[in-house]
Amino acid sequence: MAITRRDFLKGGLAGAAGALVIGNMPAWMQAEAAERKGGATLFPGEGSLYHVIDTVYDVVVCGGGPAGVMAAIAASREGARTALVEQYGMLGGMATIGYVAPISEFNFKGERIFGGIPWEFIMRLKDMGGAIVEEPKGNISFEIELYKLCMQRMVLEAGIDLYMHSFLTGCRHEGKQLSSVIINNKNGAEELRGKVFIDCTGDADLCNMMDVPMQPGDGELQPSSFCFVMSGVDTTTEMMRSCIHHDGSIPGSQCAPVRKILLKLKEEGADVPDFGGPWFNDVRHEGSVAVNITRGAADSTDNRDFTKVECELREDIFKFAKLLKDNVPEFKNSYVSSTAPQAGIRESRRILGAYTIRVEEYLEGIHYPDSISRGAHSIDIHAAKGQGQVLKSLKTSPYVPYRALITNDFPNLMVAGRSLSCDRAVLASLRVQASCMGMGQAAGAAGAMAAAGKGDVRKIDTEALVAKLRDWGAII
Ligand SMILES: Cc1cc2nc3c(=O)[nH]c(=O)nc-3n(C[C@H](O)[C@H](O)[C@H](O)COP(=O)(O)OP(=O)(O)OC[C@H]3O[C@@H](n4cnc5c(N)ncnc54)[C@H](O)[C@@H]3O)c2cc1C
Repeated sequence: MAITRRDFLKGGLAGAAGALVIGNMPAWMQAEAAERKGGATLFPGEGSLYHVIDTVYDVVVCGGGPAGVMAAIAASREGARTALVEQYGMLGGMATIGYVAPISEFNFKGERIFGGIPWEFIMRLKDMGGAIVEEPKGNISFEIELYKLCMQRMVLEAGIDLYMHSFLTGCRHEGKQLSSVIINNKNGAEELRGKVFIDCTGDADLCNMMDVPMQPGDGELQPSSFCFVMSGVDTTTEMMRSCIHHDGSIPGSQCAPVRKILLKLKEEGADVPDFGGPWFNDVRHEGSVAVNITRGAADSTDNRDFTKVECELREDIFKFAKLLKDNVPEFKNSYVSSTAPQAGIRESRRILGAYTIRVEEYLEGIHYPDSISRGAHSIDIHAAKGQGQVLKSLKTSPYVPYRALITNDFPNLMVAGRSLSCDRAVLASLRVQASCMGMGQAAGAAGAMAAAGKGDVRKIDTEALVAKLRDWGAII
């Protein structure tokens, strides 16, 4: 079925029921767009069409980052007809669209605590020549292009319908029951109907459209960092070798000698923008490193704010590249060979779920009956302004209960990854990739179980879920 954009704006999609939510547009903008005659601008171009995709999916996953990819593979392997929606033409989320590295961290105190599909991914990437496992922490240094390729292969092999270049812009629902999501791409606007929906956008975009309650903010978000790759770097010196391999030998893994140089320059009045670290990361190519240094306070869920900060950070990238070239011998012949597709996002929306993991219990490492994944990384809070970072290491490896991925009121909507229900300090540990992958694996399996039953993610047999995840190799 296809209708024109004008029909769509008039709410005239024959036979379609339920309220329609148009993206994250402010209410005034939605009202204005709805009132506009003829020349409405929601879907640009007179020929744009609105398509309802024939397949009714068991599971629709929004967001193709570490959490979303694992969720989609898990759901599909469990027999669910699965769709995966991603705004970019690549998978990997912050790893490939933000150049954040390494993949942290698969071990706790030298023992691996993540298994199943996430570990299978690492082993495949390693076999492709795209990863090394840095013991004892189990940090994974990776090659960015092979990361994308490996995820793409695993997704396609699992038989998932992949919708890349597709931005989630709306949804249709009856009260709290979600029936479809609307994505925009070159085909126009497409409606994907489904039984269960997993929000892995990192920013909880779908939950926000559905008015899922969110955790209260405490006035500050961790900063964005726009990462980039520098080539022509002498990566053979002792200093660089120790800085780019994150084996736990450097607390906080910052490159201390370079930090000292930058702080001194700043003190002397040089134009040194706010910075973090710096962290230099191995990208599996001699002479090249991924650089995590820029820092800007931004709200990724506000387009204007994020655009402004991203533009400022792009300027900062080139300031830092020059500072490094002029002041650090290893960077004498270096240049910016590539900037990430977007500035990295550490923190944005988190849902108020059926259970919220509080920092006190996280530090105690409580085991829940519905534990589905783990944490291993320190509580790691970067200051929004200045050079500060608070690190608190964990004494034990905590658990993530299934209830932190679902809500009390929304029957067929769940999250995995950065938007789980937890305190801000807990996110500061669980936001890293291995933890997000672990949550994704669990959400995908749970989504498939719910879709095969009554379609209610709140009512699945969590004992069976835990048993399934253990069967797959999860260490929970
Ligand atoms: C600067 C920085 C440094 C970091 N350092 C490390 C580190 O050293 N080690 C580590 O393991 N982790 C690190 N992290 C954290 C980690 O990379 C992320 O928290 C993790 O990738 C989150 O996974 P996710 O799948 O929840 O979300 P994301 O990785 O954010 O993936 C979300 C995906 O959803 C897509 N998406 C979003 N909105 C939409 C939409 N509306 N429509 C369609 N698609 C959408 C995005 O394009 C993306 O692919 C760092 C993060 C940052 C920003």
